[in-house]
Amino acid sequence: MKRAYKLRAYPTRPQEGRAVRLLADHCDLYNAALQERREAWRLRKVRISYGDQSAQLKEIRAADPAGQGRHSFTAQQQTLRRLNAILGIYFLRARDAKGQGRRVGYPRFKPYQRFDQVLFVAGDGARWEGANDGRWAHATFKAVGRVKVRQHRPVVGVVKTLQVKREGRRWYVVVVTDTNTAPLPPTDRSVGLDVGVARFLTTSDGEIVPNPRFLDAAQERIAELQRRKERAQPGSGNRRRLRRALAKEWRKLRNQRRDFHHKTARTLVDTCATLALEDLHVTGMTASAAGTVEHPGRNVAAKAGLNRSILDAGWSQFTRILVAKAESAGRRVILVNPAFTSVDCHTCQARCIRPRQHTVVCPLHGELDADLNGARNIAARAGLGSGQASVA
Ligand SMILES: [Zn+2]
Repeated sequence: MKRAYKLRAYPTRPQEGRAVRLLADHCDLYNAALQERREAWRLRKVRISYGDQSAQLKEIRAADPAGQGRHSFTAQQQTLRRLNAILGIYFLRARDAKGQGRRVGYPRFKPYQRFDQVLFVAGDGARWEGANDGRWAHATFKAVGRVKVRQHRPVVGVVKTLQVKREGRRWYVVVVTDTNTAPLPPTDRSVGLDVGVARFLTTSDGEIVPNPRFLDAAQERIAELQRRKERAQPGSGNRRRLRRALAKEWRKLRNQRRDFHHKTARTLVDTCATLALEDLHVTGMTASAAGTVEHPGRNVAAKAGLNRSILDAGWSQFTRILVAKAESAGRRVILVNPAFTSVDCHTCQARCIRPRQHTVVCPLHGELDADLNGARNIAARAGLGSGQASVA
């Protein structure tokens, strides 16, 4: 299965200059190839093929070492292929039009400003380095350099091609991957998921994934280092050491957390056909530290800012990972509006009270497990019934 990711790229000034030149050179190649085909057709009624033109590339490159010769051979082939595809469509249209007594215009030359993409084969004049641990991803292109790329979601599969793309003043890299994952066994388990503070998540059919222990341990270590750093003399070597130690702890935590998220998501995707979860904009949640009507318990329980930052970062990342895995496995993910999922009774929809973090009390149905109630509301809101019917 092919998957494409369009990611924003941030070339430096010199890189941008070289990327503009790359597009211009490919534009020249494209126009020259079009010209050759056009003339051959016009003057001799000869159709030149992609193969004919590709065979000339070597010569063209040798004759122009400071121009065409600098670029990736395979990328140039892709540009010729692109022209070939455009002409292929033209000939089809022309044939149809002729039958109807119409005429179709021959493809035109492209001006520089409208030639906005070059396709590279990965590993041949282009290389992809995915984002690691929240850092920048990088795409390296021959004759351009190693360009910073914002990777907003995980890139799944083997990278096949990398495309440089210009849109107005913005630059993008389109990464195309191939995921040849074995199809997962069919299942009819469909669940709603509630992520929380006390537990990592609860499914609407009653499965509980607790928060991993390393979170607590990490929180203690980080809080301790933080305290020591604040007491240390500003500008001192000690403070610098503590800052580094702190950064290391955070890094370690992020790595462990990511592993945990991958494993948890993997298990869910393997066993569920449909997964429903709240569309949480975590930044919004963090901002409302005082608590909201929708999520009173979350913020009340997350007393410490540190605790909150540890958990919040977790939820958004987990959602991204889960969605990516589900997509590439052909499972369905439904994001639902999170309003009141935790405080409405899933059976009668009455607004409950929440005396404690893990309990809500329905006026009709009494005490309910808050997270399970939330998960069932999420399942219902996603159209999965209450999500209870499919208990494994
Ligand atoms: Zn009720």
